[in-house]
Amino acid sequence: MEASTVSARPWFPQRVTICEVGPRDGLQNEAVSVRTDDKVRYIDLLAAAGCSNIEVTSFVNPKAVPQLADAEAVWARLAVFPGCRYIALVANERGLERAFAAGVRAIGLFTAASDAFTQRNIGMSVDESLTAFAPLAARAKADGMYVRASISTAFGCPFAGPVRVADVVRVAQGLWALGVDEVSIADTIGVATPNQVFDVVAALVPHLPVQRIGLHFHDTRGTALANIVAGLQSGVAIYDSSAGGLGGCPFAPGATGNVATEDVLYMLHGMGIATGVDLDRVRAASRFIGEKLTGRVVSRAFAALEAADRRAALTRA
Ligand code: MG
Repeated sequence: MEASTVSARPWFPQRVTICEVGPRDGLQNEAVSVRTDDKVRYIDLLAAAGCSNIEVTSFVNPKAVPQLADAEAVWARLAVFPGCRYIALVANERGLERAFAAGVRAIGLFTAASDAFTQRNIGMSVDESLTAFAPLAARAKADGMYVRASISTAFGCPFAGPVRVADVVRVAQGLWALGVDEVSIADTIGVATPNQVFDVVAALVPHLPVQRIGLHFHDTRGTALANIVAGLQSGVAIYDSSAGGLGGCPFAPGATGNVATEDVLYMLHGMGIATGVDLDRVRAASRFIGEKLTGRVVSRAFAALEAADRRAALTRA
């Protein structure tokens, strides 16, 4: 459902790319394990809804992330949707080999803006991660893959506390120098407020094209949509979100999930900003996966639209 009658204000991007992270970031952080069949169905529903970038799974150690141990099986069964980019996370050479073997064409690399976080998450310092990623990015680019790099804890770290903008810029520059296609700036624990978004994006823009910057917000403290508006105002046109608001952060107990795709779409379409994604069809994907997760869907737009549909159905009956 695109609000075609509204035109976007000229100071905002007219079109935004949504990177749907529900199948990977979302499911990885849910307590309930989902069957491979159901993951594939969830991804199919999202692709059919018009999601053109979907973070599907991770080729990481299955012992570390048991929820995604079926990465190969999921990948082998993905339907082909023209124009849809399926992304898989890779953490090292072994993961890249697995991704190559599975036929992956887009990878995600993950580091952070704070050493305290990377040490716990990937077992190395930020600088060590940049060194480790260099050959991975080079091989992937040489093979014609799309490479997305993410910076976790860019607005605050659960272990180190506040993060300096200069540190985010330094890591982003380091990643950009590796030849990646896109750098995603993540508020892993959901602490960011709009002024931080203005500050971080303004500091990044001299170093990499704003078209190559993505933002990843969590709604833990209710600021995700406000942060997206700050991102839009700063010219950023790539946003991560998770259908049904699935996910969380294993290092931030009690944290709610990624900002919900439904909430983001409702807002963007209402602002006249095109996404190419159908809100009602994303809702169908969330309804499907929500049942597998015993009803855990935390999107407010989802809840409101579902309730309106039920009311309408009762009136018709
Ligand atoms: Mg996340």
